[in-house]
Amino acid sequence: MSLSNGQHQKIEQSKQTGELIAIKVAAETAHENEELDVLTDSAYALDSLLKNAKRHEDIGYIGIKNKNIIANTLASLRKRRNTIQMQWVEGHSGHEGNENANRLAKEGAEKDTPDHLDWSIPPTLCLTGAKLNQLTQSLAHQAVLTAKLEKEREKYGLRPRTEANPEKTKLSLEDDFGISPTQHAIWRGIRNRDFSRKARNFLWMVIHDAYMTGSHWLRPTFKEELQERATCHHDGRLETMEHILTECDSPGQALIWELVGSMWQRKSKKPWSKPSAGTIMGASLGEVLHETTQKRLTGESRLRRILITEAAYLIWVLRCERVIANDNV
Ligand SMILES: [Zn+2]
Repeated sequence: MSLSNGQHQKIEQSKQTGELIAIKVAAETAHENEELDVLTDSAYALDSLLKNAKRHEDIGYIGIKNKNIIANTLASLRKRRNTIQMQWVEGHSGHEGNENANRLAKEGAEKDTPDHLDWSIPPTLCLTGAKLNQLTQSLAHQAVLTAKLEKEREKYGLRPRTEANPEKTKLSLEDDFGISPTQHAIWRGIRNRDFSRKARNFLWMVIHDAYMTGSHWLRPTFKEELQERATCHHDGRLETMEHILTECDSPGQALIWELVGSMWQRKSKKPWSKPSAGTIMGASLGEVLHETTQKRLTGESRLRRILITEAAYLIWVLRCERVIANDNV
């Protein structure tokens, strides 16, 4: 299901969001003068809309998952004029309404085209912003970190995690080699047989942004001391994989690239420039060509991709050892 707020904002699809949206739709579609009886097997939905609602509004929903959907569903309920009853029923136990709801949910999940919902909340029904007296230090800290992360994202033009790295790889390959591979080719490239198994796994993890680095530590549910791991202890910058592999001042990073560069120049007699994160992720796809004939040089291409990938993997291993041994100081 996708929701329309004028900008066609997509929402995370999960059991929880589905339960909330179902209640929102019920509140929107039942005749306005009728009493509304909501029967749900979702303790999460009941807690979000009843037990925790006031507390969450008081803290401006800082760090609360699905906050937009919760606030929006509450607003739809508040718009109603008559009594609303909410009741928990046991799921999958033969309750007629519950069984029908499950059937509809299954049908909905298999739809080819998304539904659109009215996502506009009258401002009077949606409370935003934390009440000052409810803003504890830790919540304030979280709000500041989230804002900081948003800024970093804007500054570096970061896309959502799943898209960012293949896109970055493609751009680097366009710059370095004038080629524009598909995402599929980029994913296939990391399985190149020239790479060691460890290097292949490493590349897979890097392109999926699956290592716990940088903004991964800024999850709202993480305690402050965990969130501090988002930044590099050397230079205080957000410790993204790109930072570790190509920017960090810590010992190792620059030196390894320097050694790799001089080895490359000695063996291939060709120029070298320090790879970017995109160049590293797309190392298997860059082909070295003969200067005049433009023919592919198989040996050099192979050497280049092995050097870049193994060097990046080595920098990562050294960084992890440093973090484990002495907290990356
Ligand atoms: Zn650093």
